Amino acid sequence: MQSFSVVIVGAGPGGLACARLLAEHGLDVLVLERNSAAGPKVCGGGITWDGLIKRVPEHLIDGAFTSQHIRSNYQQTVIQSSDPIVATVRRDVLGKWMCQQAENAGAVIKTSCVVNRIDSDSVATSQGNFRYRYLIGADGTSSIVRKYLRLATEKVGVGIHFLVPGNFEKMEWHLNNRLFNNGYGWIFPYQDMASVGIYGVKPYNNPKKMLANLRQWAKQQKISLDGLKPKAGLINFDYKGWRFGNKMLIGDAAGLASGLTGEGMYSALVSGEAAARVILDPEYDCHELQQLIKKQQKHQRIVEFSAKNKLLNITLMETLILALRTGLIPFSMLEMAD
Ligand SMILES: Cc1cc2nc3c(=O)[nH]c(=O)nc-3n(C[C@H](O)[C@H](O)[C@H](O)COP(=O)(O)OP(=O)(O)OC[C@H]3O[C@@H](n4cnc5c(N)ncnc54)[C@H](O)[C@@H]3O)c2cc1C
Repeated sequence: MQSFSVVIVGAGPGGLACARLLAEHGLDVLVLERNSAAGPKVCGGGITWDGLIKRVPEHLIDGAFTSQHIRSNYQQTVIQSSDPIVATVRRDVLGKWMCQQAENAGAVIKTSCVVNRIDSDSVATSQGNFRYRYLIGADGTSSIVRKYLRLATEKVGVGIHFLVPGNFEKMEWHLNNRLFNNGYGWIFPYQDMASVGIYGVKPYNNPKKMLANLRQWAKQQKISLDGLKPKAGLINFDYKGWRFGNKMLIGDAAGLASGLTGEGMYSALVSGEAAARVILDPEYDCHELQQLIKKQQKHQRIVEFSAKNKLLNITLMETLILALRTGLIPFSMLEMAD
């Protein structure tokens, strides 16, 4: 059986960020990815500028937006900044670049390789068994590593979107409680298309109803979805810890996405890097990750609180937009990056 210092399950942004850093420091790292390529994933591709530019080069960015258009039942506002606030990045492009970076650093990446079983010091896959010293669960919401650790996943968000061809100029967030409950609808433009989607939290939102509401809203926005197929995915925000001896969870596997917005790429990158740093130096102070966890927990409390009471939810949404409009709170309150 082949042995590696670190085996990483999943080549999403979390797994690849972790692999790159470890390999750059000379560790032998194996990344196991069930898909035939790393990258493609159901995702709006929206990532905050501050969080992105520290970790991903600008040339990968598809769209960058200095204005954010926010609308609720009773108000609308445009948040503006001299620097872009949110950017869009294509997951296939990001995945390909991150894969190259990790491989250039020396990581071994096996695609079309499904991890079927976890044992205390090895993993069984569709391409054989591999022994590890450290195991990283970077395998998203349905993580097999999380299941091995016997951590339940109860708090999940649902994201559904269409990739709509055309030129869309504005990045939009719609907080209409009749259609989106305590979630939201979004339009995230790319160069030649937009991700038009809906986010909501289970069990307060039913995915079938969400899809019907998304279609209805798109029609109101005069966006044609004719002939387009929706794509959906679950986003885990049920954080229950990330360090479990020589096994660690990162990104969606750890439940580190925001329950409030469904943003999860930044958390995946930060936690992936933190896991690598801790393997390299067990005394490493994971300050950035600790800050992120605090914010993630705050988002979780807000989303659960607002889901339980309709009137409270409306009041909260309207207060939020008023506070953003008047500059009382910055847009970064909604972001995972500080
Ligand atoms: C509709 C939708 C829109 C979204 N929009 C945004 C957005 O705009 N911005 C944002 O920041 N986040 C968004 N998210 C969330 C974001 O996609 C995730 O939070 C992010 O991808 C998590 O990264 P990760 O590296 O933890 O896991 P993932 O990106 O999920 O990667 C996990 C990888 O593990 C692999 N894997 C899983 N199981 C196995 C196995 N058994 N064996 C081998 N490989 C395995 C998978 O194939 C996958 O490649 C959205 C999600 C959805 C569903």
